[in-house]
Amino acid sequence: MQFADRLNNVETSAIRELFKLLGKPGIISFAGGFPDSAMFDVAGIKEASDKALTDEPGAALQYGATEGYNPLREQLAAFMASKGAKDVTPEGLIVTTGSQQALDLLGKTLISPGDKVIVEGPTFLATIQCFRLYGAQLISAPVDGNGVDTDQLEQLIAEHKPKFVYLIPTFGNPSGALLNLERRRKVLEMAVKHQTLIVEDDPYGDLYFGDAPPPSILALSAQVPGSREYLVHCGSMSKVLSPGLRVGWMIAPAELLAKATMCKQFSDAHTSTFAQATAAQYLKAGRMPATLARVRKVYAERAQAMGGALKKELGDAISFVQPQGGLFFWASLTGAGGKVKDGNEFAKTAIEKGVAFVPGTPFYAVNPDHSTLRLSFATADVAKIEEGVGRLGQAMSRA
Ligand code: PMP
Repeated sequence: MQFADRLNNVETSAIRELFKLLGKPGIISFAGGFPDSAMFDVAGIKEASDKALTDEPGAALQYGATEGYNPLREQLAAFMASKGAKDVTPEGLIVTTGSQQALDLLGKTLISPGDKVIVEGPTFLATIQCFRLYGAQLISAPVDGNGVDTDQLEQLIAEHKPKFVYLIPTFGNPSGALLNLERRRKVLEMAVKHQTLIVEDDPYGDLYFGDAPPPSILALSAQVPGSREYLVHCGSMSKVLSPGLRVGWMIAPAELLAKATMCKQFSDAHTSTFAQATAAQYLKAGRMPATLARVRKVYAERAQAMGGALKKELGDAISFVQPQGGLFFWASLTGAGGKVKDGNEFAKTAIEKGVAFVPGTPFYAVNPDHSTLRLSFATADVAKIEEGVGRLGQAMSRA
């Protein structure tokens, strides 16, 4: 077979390779990025899909507009307003097939081979691969416990004049980090000052454990004149409701939204109308606040359990910032007392002990930090988390 040259820029994800090992019986996995399927609001989704078929069977089962099903666009605009982004109109967003498609449409519409794009180090693996497929040259901006380092980001923007900057400011995957308010403002100011497009990918912002995080960069843009024209915001129903619905959305300046809509026409014509009508009915029924309260509580307990167990079992061999939301712990092996310091090596010993996680290196577009790893606390209950981290402790003493 003669494949397109663009495929030379990408390889299959290292995570997928690791997932092949997860079939081993009895393994406890902290490796996935999935929400817990036991927490899906099955009754609510059933009611919403029934209502979609009863109220508007024609629309729910027919082809639809590429921009999205209007009742859903209205519900999503209201949902964004409830989170502080008050000026989002239904026409100001398009529905996408997961937020993953929004990322692909951004790649398609904005990236020419050789264009520079700044991402966080570490960042979402599928973003790295998607942007590379379009030929992007990725530049990495460092992240600390407060999200991306905005001083360094500004220097990189000034030096490289990127096509755009891609950030996951709220409980990032994999960093778990939360960009603080001051840095959020700074991002908006830089967007205007350097006339640089900023993409805010926000699938985890609703999954906070204690106090609500600072407003999204989109919501804050109202306070920074001129910033909105440099801002794209991607949202998703995946982590809070169901990833199988494949409902996401993108808010962007009209000119960009029009080009993205054109590309979506050639791609999947539109996101499943049945899924969109179901999501619209779900939001309209007002079930989201109770669902969010329930998932936040469960994930908060699991995050707490994982943090406590990691400290107890691994002590000074590991360092991390306790996440305040999302699905992930991002940690570094310190090598204290001569213990293992390499995430890949530790992942192999851990699998032998019956516990899996993802080493951190694939999440870096450039200059990977080999000591890092990502642990998801989403799909194991507290007892399994304690048992799994106990196995990590055993793996550490053997490694
Ligand atoms: N962005 C980030 C940061 C993610 O972690 C994910 C899912 N893992 C996505 C986008 C894509 O999610 P979906 O397509 O299901 O909305």
